[in-house]
Amino acid sequence: MTPAMPTPDGKVLARREEIVAALSAIVPGDGVLHHPDARRPYESDALTAYRQPPMVVVLPETSAQVAAVIRWCHEHDVRVVPRGAGTSLSGGALPLADAVLLGLSKLNRILEINYVDRVVVVQPGVTNLAITKAVEANGFYYAPDPSSQIACTIGGNVAENAGGVHCLKYGVTTNNVLGVEFVTATGDVVRLGGRGLEPPGLDLLGLVVGSEGLLGVVTEVTVRILPRPECVRALLIGFGDVESAGQCVADIIASGIIPAGMEMMDRPAVCAAEAFVRAGYPLDVEALLIVEVDGPAPECDDLVGRVGAIARRNGATSVRASASDAEREAFWAGRKAAFPAAGRLSPDYYCMDGTIPRRRLPEVLGRIRELSGQYGLGVINVFHAGDGNLHPLIMYDANRPGELQRAEAFGAEILKLCVEVGGVLTGEHGVGVEKRDLMPVMFSDADLKQQKRIKCAFDPKLLLNPGKMIPQLHRCAELGRMHVHGNSLPFPELPRF
Ligand SMILES: Cc1cc2nc3c(=O)[nH]c(=O)nc-3n(C[C@H](O)[C@H](O)[C@H](O)COP(=O)(O)OP(=O)(O)OC[C@H]3O[C@@H](n4cnc5c(N)ncnc54)[C@H](O)[C@@H]3O)c2cc1C
Repeated sequence: MTPAMPTPDGKVLARREEIVAALSAIVPGDGVLHHPDARRPYESDALTAYRQPPMVVVLPETSAQVAAVIRWCHEHDVRVVPRGAGTSLSGGALPLADAVLLGLSKLNRILEINYVDRVVVVQPGVTNLAITKAVEANGFYYAPDPSSQIACTIGGNVAENAGGVHCLKYGVTTNNVLGVEFVTATGDVVRLGGRGLEPPGLDLLGLVVGSEGLLGVVTEVTVRILPRPECVRALLIGFGDVESAGQCVADIIASGIIPAGMEMMDRPAVCAAEAFVRAGYPLDVEALLIVEVDGPAPECDDLVGRVGAIARRNGATSVRASASDAEREAFWAGRKAAFPAAGRLSPDYYCMDGTIPRRRLPEVLGRIRELSGQYGLGVINVFHAGDGNLHPLIMYDANRPGELQRAEAFGAEILKLCVEVGGVLTGEHGVGVEKRDLMPVMFSDADLKQQKRIKCAFDPKLLLNPGKMIPQLHRCAELGRMHVHGNSLPFPELPRF
């Protein structure tokens, strides 16, 4: 179902020239893009089913410019959509027709590397991978590793609370960000958190991480870095049925082992990845597990032995342990190529993101297979098995009338199923526009009202990234006992291209 978005405000659109002039004064040079050809590249993020060219794009280079842009927009009732690299899979960075798209990619400097405090301070447009690249020569790295890490920015990671393969052991973004500089909806610059793990006061940093650009704009991030483990090894484990693979995952965790990463692929995903990158995967399996362990070499060897034994007890049909870094990387090559491999099977695919309790894995996969038959659309499953985060990739062809809508309906069923079995709507890709209207499936009215109150406390004019994450919040006065502000416009359907 196409999500409803705030109606373009005609009065704001009529003021476009005034807005361009004001923003150009704040960000001189080529920092403001308003020609249609220049705005076109920003019309969608990685949820490409939704497109909307922004009214104007502004590309500040300093945090002071970001603050000045937001202050001006606040004073003049203009909406703002923050954007990092635009790799969001949930439409979080989707522009609005009457909003300023605030691109943060030019704030891309690493400001400080401190090995004594084990922190790196960066501007929000620095890519995730650039942090590790900057410190790896000294034996350090930044742990959260989204598959998009070559492109996505740390600001976007903070806004989405991004995860990755190695988050099972080392935590997601919120566990690795120590502090931020943050521009509020009124254009004030504040600092939340610090350089240590336990800052004083309310955990406002915890609130901001994962807030999808709705509460303010992150202009600086302090992350912790970790020393590279002495030894890293991986096991490639095949199973004749998904139930045994699921049980193996549960038994590994129950034994007290926390692998650095534990990923599962179902048979269609294994076949697609193998055909694409020839990773050496066994093709006679129904499920394939990659389990990575790390630590001092003797501990690593011990863990490899224990994981292998648990796998065999669960009826594994093949167990291979990497003997070199090259072999370990080959194990991962197929998993990392699973998304592009899906692109070879179908003109389009829709990447879902939901989380379930690990023990419900076999049942949920069975149900997804049934739904696949029901909707007449193929699906391959790759997932962060250790934390129950599913990524079913639904195959469809957008050129066939109705197929995108069918894929979306299928996806919504999967997400409802995740909630039904005790899981949650999203693992790491955020809510954005994609899952916004499913929020009531998971949250009660009281829960949603609390979320709206938080939004209104930070952004009473509802100017920051409106239409995302929070269903049907037209104005803060709806919540009662709050002052009436602008943006009381109805939410019509957003045209899709
Ligand atoms: C192929 C592929 C693989 C992916 N794999 C993973 C994965 O393994 N794990 C994972 O978690 N995600 C993954 N993603 C999703 C995506 O990369 C992440 O959500 C990432 O954090 C988005 O970063 P970005 O810089 O592209 O942000 P954008 O897409 O530009 O924006 C995302 C959201 O953050 C807000 N935002 C951006 N910058 C700021 C800022 N400075 N201050 C406030 N708000 C801001 C935007 O308004 C928007 O709501 C994947 C995406 C792709 C395309």
